[in-house]
Amino acid sequence: MAQPIVGLHHVTAIASDPQRNLDFYTQVLGLRFVKRTVNFDDPGTYHFYFGDDAGSPGTILTFFPWPHASRGHAGAGETTRTAFSVPLASLPFWRKRLEEEHILFEDTGKRFEEEVLTLRDPDGMVLEIVGHTDVKEPLAPRTSNVPAEHSIRGFFGVTLLERKSEGTFATLQTMGFHEVASEGNRHRFAAEGDALGNHIDVILDPEAGHGRMGAGSVHHIAFRAKDDSSQLEWLEILSKSLAVTPVQDRTYFHSIYFREPGGVLFELATDPPGFGLDEPAESLGQTLRLPPWLEAHHQEIERILPKITDKSAQPTEA
Ligand code: ZN
Repeated sequence: MAQPIVGLHHVTAIASDPQRNLDFYTQVLGLRFVKRTVNFDDPGTYHFYFGDDAGSPGTILTFFPWPHASRGHAGAGETTRTAFSVPLASLPFWRKRLEEEHILFEDTGKRFEEEVLTLRDPDGMVLEIVGHTDVKEPLAPRTSNVPAEHSIRGFFGVTLLERKSEGTFATLQTMGFHEVASEGNRHRFAAEGDALGNHIDVILDPEAGHGRMGAGSVHHIAFRAKDDSSQLEWLEILSKSLAVTPVQDRTYFHSIYFREPGGVLFELATDPPGFGLDEPAESLGQTLRLPPWLEAHHQEIERILPKITDKSAQPTEA
């Protein structure tokens, strides 16, 4: 029996303007910019990672900002909503903050047991701020002006849009997620335990059209593997019914990928080694970090990347 998958590890999406993306997630949502690196498959473009103070699994939202990306539109076989967890009592804070920042949002109301605010990031990516009572203690970003008690804890979960249930439900069940509630055509799956990002909602719509990936689209969602040996056990289990890639070294974690039968790209990423691998906790995200095989080209890469300014409050030197 493999170690259970407790929830999401990270969500990766596509953005356009890197500065605008960085400003929104650090200055408006108050996440920490935990890693400034490049797309390992396209080192002339950035890969940004945002999260809690440490970039803990279950809190990590990552972006490929492609300055000229045209806007995508969501369709079947895609992750259509990414939801963050905050305390229920913090929703008034978030309403006020979004108003002050001139971010349009909608009070979506109660869904199952939780209150939901819905908003879009500057590229049109649909986000939810989910207020509920059993939130985790924060590992609040030291760089943010959001008071720790109101800080985004990490993911609540994601919503997938699917035309049919069979393959997707079976895959989630194989991964240890069970249907815990449903409301209309929304089916909520949850992993055992209370880890961040342990909710996967599936909306079934047989008429849903195909989307187009672009800015504002979620590229893939990654689930957590406890370590390398657990990942290999899952590779074996999942390979019985799905086409799974070999393990790939993503520097900060190790990954396998597969497409669930409805079309959403899933990844299983290891918790270790994490973002402290190549820079100290105090200065995460402040300078460009490259994997060893790109380090020889550091200066050229830095020269061609768009210039960005991290306006986050930097921690004072000890
Ligand atoms: Zn990933």
